[in-house]
Order: sequence, then C-alpha cells, then structure tokens
Amino acid sequence: MKCPFCNFEESKVTDSRLSMDGRAIKRRRECLKCEKRFTTFETIDLTIQVEKRDKTFEDFKQEKLFGGIMAACRHTRVSHDKVKALAYHITADLMAEQIREITTKELGEIVMKHLQEIDTVAYIRFACVYKRFKDINQIVDAIDSVKFKNGCYCDLNKNNNKDEEKYGAKTK
Ligand SMILES: [Zn+2]
Repeated sequence: MKCPFCNFEESKVTDSRLSMDGRAIKRRRECLKCEKRFTTFETIDLTIQVEKRDKTFEDFKQEKLFGGIMAACRHTRVSHDKVKALAYHITADLMAEQIREITTKELGEIVMKHLQEIDTVAYIRFACVYKRFKDINQIVDAIDSVKFKNGCYCDLNKNNNKDEEKYGAKTK
C-alpha cells in the first residue's frame, strides 16, 4: 500500500474497522517514512470458511455467530445488544487478521474467551456445548477459572455489575 503523499511502500495500520454490512474494511494507516496518515477501504471478496466438526465447510456468517452466542446468553443478564456487539467485534477481528479459514472449535474458543469476561452463566453454557466436557473435572476447572475472573469483568459489563451489587443474589 503506497503512501499517497510520498509514495513510500510501507505503512503501519493504526485502526481497522469493519463496515456495518461486514463487506468492507476501513483501515487507518500511517506512512513509515513521512508519518502522514491516510485511509484505505478494502472490499472483502473472499469469505471466511468455517470448517465444521464433520470436516465440511460453510461460509462464515455473522448472524449465525450471533445466534450461537444468543442461545448461550438466553435468560442471563447479557443483553441482545451486547451479544450483537460481541458478534460484530469477533467478526471484525477475524477480518482484520485476514483469517480465511477457521474451525468451529477455534471459533468457539474465541467466543468463550470473550464470554468469560462478560458473564459466568453464559460462559459455562456456551462452554458445555463447545468444549463437550468429557468429565466433571473439566467442568469444575472451567468454573474455577471463571471464579478468578469475578470482580474484573471488562468494561462492557460495568453497569450490570453495579446492578448486581445492589440487588445481590436475589436477581438470580
Ligand atoms: Zn509517506
């Protein structure tokens, strides 16, 4: 990507954003020579292929990812909007990293990593499906690892945490 100011060929990406329809990515770049900033707009013409457990492939769809996370978050304090934002965020990350192929297992791990920071119940539910726990010890390990996380939820969850402090265990 040549710098439009000095024609130098190397630049660093300072920000990547996915367009709302998920079909294009906007990047802020900074020229490594003159340090001027410019924006590139790249259309995504290669879809991400998801390799399923039965080894067949299907096109990655943000709506499907949303549906999967939403199912785990039903009856938890994670809102529809938060799940939508999470599905968008994960999609944008995959696009930014120019991932072309991903397995359902890898995708599940990414979702779990995020859910772990957002909501314990949703995380365990999702983990039960995606990790396919082999024995009770694995479930205990998963619960232990989220216990450590308590009290350090990410920003997304700050308001909900305040509610929980106010109402205590009665909300559950
Ligand atoms: Zn330049």
